[in-house]
Amino acid sequence: MRVIAVLNEKGGVGKTTTSYNLGGALAISGKKVLLVDIDPQCNLTQFCGLKPNDNFPGDKTINEVLLDQISAKEVIVSRNKNLWVLPASQKLSDTEHIIYTKLGRELILADAMQDCGNFDFILIDCPPSLSLLTINALCFATEIIVALQPEPASLVGLAKLLDTYGKIKTRMNKDLEISGIVCSMVESGKLLHREIIADIRSKLGDRVFQTVIPRRVAYTEASGQGKLINEYRPKSDETKIVANLAKEVIKRKRK
Ligand code: ADP
Ligand code: MG
Repeated sequence: MRVIAVLNEKGGVGKTTTSYNLGGALAISGKKVLLVDIDPQCNLTQFCGLKPNDNFPGDKTINEVLLDQISAKEVIVSRNKNLWVLPASQKLSDTEHIIYTKLGRELILADAMQDCGNFDFILIDCPPSLSLLTINALCFATEIIVALQPEPASLVGLAKLLDTYGKIKTRMNKDLEISGIVCSMVESGKLLHREIIADIRSKLGDRVFQTVIPRRVAYTEASGQGKLINEYRPKSDETKIVANLAKEVIKRKRK
């Protein structure tokens, strides 16, 4: 089972949109996929067409799983063929304070997911900060995908993120790998974007996915309607691009 944390300490860079549609594309290619929302903003949960704090079995979410009140299996909902969701609630930000006092606080998610069932991929959509929730995701994950918008400030953020990754790997999760960096919201007509992507590729080589996610309004329209891009525009470029990313992710088998 590959557990991928989709990460960036910045918000608004396309983490949630990418996790969601990548999950959809992996599911279409026949993989069993679980999307995990661990962000108190609950955007992934909303994109899946679920309302935070509503519509879930007994109103329970990952929040109660982290509080050890219910098992992950009981909270996971089916989204469509091969795709499941572990939804979040806004209460997660309070929960973060509660679990802060617990013994082994970084390992609560990993522990709670032990009996979540069998999936080929678990994709965790992380909050836009290096919070205890994110560290929990990183301690459970086998891999990281960094979603990055090609802006000058992103390079500074990326260096900090790689440093954090190094610390987590040495101190807490020695098996954690960086499976890749995906550039999103790319405007290929912008020279600056092309230059920054070339710079990132020259520094990080094949860790950077060949596929880049362009800035296209269809992605926002789809998730706004609770649809995956492959449901909203099945035959579009936007869908093919995410399918290509999924192929690259599948190819990057763990060493
Ligand atoms: P994050 O999870 O990093 O905060 P989101 O995925 O929520 O980022 O995206 C932030 C906003 O940008 C949302 O309104 C989303 O619809 C939009 N967005 C995300 N990816 C794209 C894209 N490739 N093209 C256009 N808009 C995008
Ligand atoms: Mg998000």
